[in-house]
Amino acid sequence: MSFKLLGIIEPVLKALRGEGYLHPTPIQEKSIPILLSKKDLLGCAQTGTGKTAAFAIPILQHLYLDQQRDHHRRQIRALVVTPTRELAVQIGDSFTTYGKYTGLKNTVIYGGVKQGSQTQTLQQGVDILIATPGRLLDLMGQGYISLRSIEYFVLDEADRMLDMGFLPDIRKIIDELPKNRQSLFFSATMPAEIIDLSRRILGDPEKVIINPEKSTTDLIVQAVYFVKKKDKSGLLVHILQTEPVESVLVFSRTKHGADKIARFLLKAGINVDTIHGNKSQSARQRALDNFKSGSIKVLVATDIAARGIDVEELSLVVNYDLPNIPEMYIHRIGRTGRASTSGIALSFCDVEEKAYLRDIQKLINTNIPVRMEHPYPDDSSEQNSAKPAVRYRPRRQQRQSDSGIRITNNTRKNDWSYSQKSG
Ligand code: AMP
Repeated sequence: MSFKLLGIIEPVLKALRGEGYLHPTPIQEKSIPILLSKKDLLGCAQTGTGKTAAFAIPILQHLYLDQQRDHHRRQIRALVVTPTRELAVQIGDSFTTYGKYTGLKNTVIYGGVKQGSQTQTLQQGVDILIATPGRLLDLMGQGYISLRSIEYFVLDEADRMLDMGFLPDIRKIIDELPKNRQSLFFSATMPAEIIDLSRRILGDPEKVIINPEKSTTDLIVQAVYFVKKKDKSGLLVHILQTEPVESVLVFSRTKHGADKIARFLLKAGINVDTIHGNKSQSARQRALDNFKSGSIKVLVATDIAARGIDVEELSLVVNYDLPNIPEMYIHRIGRTGRASTSGIALSFCDVEEKAYLRDIQKLINTNIPVRMEHPYPDDSSEQNSAKPAVRYRPRRQQRQSDSGIRITNNTRKNDWSYSQKSG
């Protein structure tokens, strides 16, 4: 299946090509035709399945085609409500990326920061608004936002909204929406309150269910090393010198950290470059081109800079620091396991990062296997006891025998497994 066969228009196709998306993921393949035919959708899926693009692409397409036909004044016609600031920002970035050639504008609003720059952007006019519930109601109350012209409404991560106590806010928002609209409702789980809420929002929806344990992360061999912060550099050099890998993307939480990593790798004689926000666009592009062509083996990146990196045959991702936002882990390791190969994602976890690891494991619903045999074990640190530890072995043997991990060399990019569509 290709995006073109799904009936996606050229301006969006062009952006998807730019992102290196070759095939739709199962949730995209199932949802996009439903959404293009303007039906309501109930999606049971979690982060990592490609659900953002599954709703962003059809919304962009509708808005673009309507705009071409009717030359609307810019007003908020699509609203996405999501529980956290981080998710809101990620969704905003996705709309910007996929909508790059449509001329449509989006903005993101969330609480915990001053509202001035948010209201200013709203006053300039946007087509798509991505919001957390509290700030949305607040700015509606102050008269900065009207939901009168909403034609497309997405409620994202409904079960997390429930956990975070947002249900009363959501009910207030729904009451303000025009009756005539297309509604999309996503939740990873479906407890009774969520089913009730979905009935309030949706008419007679089509349903798409994506098996949670079959997300992107399934294609990737993952392991974690417990290591002291001071030993991480030695461990990284050791891995780069012993793993038979072609290209390695190393993630650092900070720009300063990325530069430090690059310095000690260079000292160890390893060919490396960095991309992060302090570098000019042309320097970043040069680093990326050199990495893609294979003239440098290791690229060190921060999360923001790494968005959109798509390197065929990227064999290893190393999380030198664990991300403090669990969804970021999925985005990071999703850089490998693309195209025609399966990838490996190794994470370093020092004692201060244990809480991040717990959040990540909860999100992906998996205990990441622990690699114990390495030169820098952190003996003071209790192990990830929920799952038998995986002993360190060279990659070729490990491919055949690591417990619980199925990995084949010819896993295709679009082999994302899914369960069924019903209703
Ligand atoms: P999401 O579930 O929306 O958070 O997406 C998870 C990750 O999959 C993101 O890093 C997306 O950039 C990536 N992604 C989404 N759709 C595709 C696709 N069709 N092909 C490759 N990667 C994708």
